[in-house]
Amino acid sequence: MSAQPSRVFVVSAPSGTGKGTLINLAREMYRQKFGKDLVLSVSYTTRPPREGEQEGVEYHFVSLEEFKQMEANKEFYETAPFSDRWYGTPKRYVLEAKRLGLDVLLEIEVKGARKLKLNEEFPEFTSAFILPPDRSQQILRLLGRKQNNPQDLRRRVDEAAEEIRNYRMYDYVIVNEPGRAAEAAAQLFRILAGVEPRPNPSTIKRRVAEILATYNRRKDKNPNHG
Ligand code: 5GP
Repeated sequence: MSAQPSRVFVVSAPSGTGKGTLINLAREMYRQKFGKDLVLSVSYTTRPPREGEQEGVEYHFVSLEEFKQMEANKEFYETAPFSDRWYGTPKRYVLEAKRLGLDVLLEIEVKGARKLKLNEEFPEFTSAFILPPDRSQQILRLLGRKQNNPQDLRRRVDEAAEEIRNYRMYDYVIVNEPGRAAEAAAQLFRILAGVEPRPNPSTIKRRVAEILATYNRRKDKNPNHG
């Protein structure tokens, strides 16, 4: 067991931002640099597994009844609905990481991250928000995934604009520019290593406004959208 205190990281990103790839790359850098694992908290969800997803690896896949029972038993730090399904952060990964003195990372959406900020039972954490460079890149990624049906895809794109508007909640913002995943992963790694300087708020504000404009323009063109 290490005597070092464990740190907690919360990473959010609209669906189809390449978050999984960046986290995998950053975790590998972390392992090489520090010679230990960065624990991933495995959430519970009521959504069905996508092709290739395994129980206990990407998620614990449970029925709505099981989820509600766990919630009633106070087994979660937070739960949130997303795209018509439930997601929840169980207490045990964070508690176990703390016991072992390991750092732990949670990948959760924005509503859940806000709940954790307000939850006094939950430890202090550093947060990062990963953004797609624009709406069309997000759609391309979601289409590439092939597992979302058209309604689900539409819902995820609509939710993205709403999520992005909450960027100020996060300590860091990373834009996953096309063809520059290694750079974005290195930035995430520097955040995990505690060496990334805090971003300039006006630079971030400008970049986020550009990204949001790609979502808003589309709404103007199609009044029935959303
Ligand atoms: P997906 O269905 O694409 O795996 O995940 C949908 C969204 O739910 C993503 O933004 C993901 O980060 C988020 N998510 C995953 N686990 C949790 C959780 O335990 N709590 C909350 N609030 N969101 C989660």
